[in-house]
Amino acid sequence: MSRIVVKIGSNVLARKDGKPNITNMSTLVDQVAYLKNNGHEIVMVSSGAVACGRGAVTPLKDLDSVASRQLFSAIGQVRLMNLYSQFFSNYGMVAAQILTQKDNFSSEEAYLNQKSCMLTMLENDVIPIVNENDTVSLTELMFTDNDELSGSIAAMINADMLVILSNVDGIFTGDPEDPASKLIPEIAYDESADQYLVESKSDFGRGGMSSKSHIASKVASEGIAVIIAKGDRPRVLIDLIENPQNVPHTLFRPSQNSNKEKKAYE
Ligand code: GLU
Repeated sequence: MSRIVVKIGSNVLARKDGKPNITNMSTLVDQVAYLKNNGHEIVMVSSGAVACGRGAVTPLKDLDSVASRQLFSAIGQVRLMNLYSQFFSNYGMVAAQILTQKDNFSSEEAYLNQKSCMLTMLENDVIPIVNENDTVSLTELMFTDNDELSGSIAAMINADMLVILSNVDGIFTGDPEDPASKLIPEIAYDESADQYLVESKSDFGRGGMSSKSHIASKVASEGIAVIIAKGDRPRVLIDLIENPQNVPHTLFRPSQNSNKEKKAYE
């Protein structure tokens, strides 16, 4: 059995028209359910709230970036959770929402409170689905993106692995769009991928490849394996766990001699 944090990016969860990508969501839920039935503990970190809220309302006047994040995330989060809950119920499984913010990682009391909440869910066979509380978080106090949030969650619950599902197969030796670029299958936790990175931000989410790669190295240095892979490949999650050679990905090899739980508040 292993404990796995699965982070799913906005580009995987939302369509271009601002509606949830039901096909990708249901396929990923099928795979999480399979892994859970095979003894793995799964915590999901789901982006996509802002991206899935866009398709629901047209604001009456132009909104600034904070107001539009607040409005769209509040709408999109409900849409996402409704779908997750419905899809997991087909397997007799219960999903639960955790909305958090960065300051929950900066005091011991808040950190331990949040950790015990998540462990209680796992003990009770519930699937925690985490997102940042985009609606009321103050912009200057937010996580850089959900890649950073998922790294903090993985360390907090002592995960064995963090899987970051994005719209690319992993880290390439150049621009992923350039056919001459090659996918890098493995990077050691203490090896920098900076030389390979071409900064291109994803369409909908806040994170980009360079933030993913920095978070991945940091989490791997804490003893947790990190994989970046493409979220809409069929069976991506199952293959990453059972037959990793079948699916393109980049693995950040973890340090073997580290204390996994690096507490954020220390
Ligand atoms: N929390 C944001 C959302 O749900 C996503 C942040 C990110 O893109 O990393 O829309």
